[in-house]
Amino acid sequence: MTQLTPPYHDVRQHPLTRGKNPMTIKAINTHLLEQPLARPFESSAMRFSVRRHLLVEIECDNGLDGWGECLGNADINAAIVNAMSPHLIGRSALDIEPIWLELYNQFRDQGQRGATVNAISGIDIALWDLCGKYHNAPIYQLMGGAFRDQVPAYATGGFRQVGVDRISSLLQEVQGFLDAGFRAVKIKIGFGIALDIESIAAVRELIGPDIRLMIDANHGYDAVAAAQVIRLAAPFDIDWFEEPVVPEALGSYRRLRDLNSIPIAGGETWHTRWGIAEALQQGAVDILQPDVGGVGGLSEARKLLTLCDIHGVRCVPHIWGTDIALAAGLHFHAIIPPSPPAFEAESAWLEFDQSDNPMRAVLLKHPIEMIDGMVRIPSGPGLGIEVNRDALSPFYRKP
Ligand SMILES: [Mg+2]
Repeated sequence: MTQLTPPYHDVRQHPLTRGKNPMTIKAINTHLLEQPLARPFESSAMRFSVRRHLLVEIECDNGLDGWGECLGNADINAAIVNAMSPHLIGRSALDIEPIWLELYNQFRDQGQRGATVNAISGIDIALWDLCGKYHNAPIYQLMGGAFRDQVPAYATGGFRQVGVDRISSLLQEVQGFLDAGFRAVKIKIGFGIALDIESIAAVRELIGPDIRLMIDANHGYDAVAAAQVIRLAAPFDIDWFEEPVVPEALGSYRRLRDLNSIPIAGGETWHTRWGIAEALQQGAVDILQPDVGGVGGLSEARKLLTLCDIHGVRCVPHIWGTDIALAAGLHFHAIIPPSPPAFEAESAWLEFDQSDNPMRAVLLKHPIEMIDGMVRIPSGPGLGIEVNRDALSPFYRKP
């Protein structure tokens, strides 16, 4: 057997593909999109006055192109993806795992968590999109097959709108989610315990007992305050409490989880199998929320399913970005095994951000839609989406 010795920057020299030349990467394009918002909104410690996203496009010599998206700061992601590009040119786009490992090896010293992995994530998603197009199959099929063809969606919203009354604006927004057909809602907290509890109580009264309600502090509390929130919020039937404390504080996560009151969720800023394993080994969460665009792409996300299974933790992915991130998240949703492995097991809820984003529904020729509370998983080749190039240009940064 031939022993392979990476890196193979030129696919034509690769022992397994020499002379075959299957779909060689010829260009990596970064599309940095941004749009100022008419009205800024806030989570517990961040203000959003502009939407900014980075799309990754990989072009191949056979005319196919693949799309991905990175979670996190778009300017930093663009710089790192561009720095990684020379490692991709000339390689087979089908070598997804070898490329992942080489990028990680080459950039490990620049960071094993955070922006380096965000960049790899966008590239990895684009490679899976290409792989699906090459084989004329949806990504979930190539990753072992789907457990479901649609997912129940929850509305993410309830940020604090700047300059308006918190409670009345929140209730108006949540009523819109109900009118649209959502049967689950996640609202932001972390604006002070008294106001948060007042918000939670008002939303529960509005939605009644049958609509699911989740709360997300975006790590805006410490363990003492979060424990108080748990005690006061528990009577309002909360499905999960997301990011109660900073993601580094795994011991605090564990202490809050040990209260056995509201299920504790987190993980959108934990990266790779190593970061997730560390959190799960410490018993930090009941519900893990990896983001495909940040955890290391689809290649890494599917490895985490094994960790979740071993540690008895549910996987409910985090999703934030454009419809490209949403499509990647849907393919990941497709391959999440039911937990528990029973007929009556409920699907993980799909995070469907409803906060202001002018790019959300315009980048694809066929936008991803929620109908009667459900979102269908795209079944076309690759991600199963078609990017509308004409729709990108209004969002390119103005010089
Ligand atoms: Mg969150």
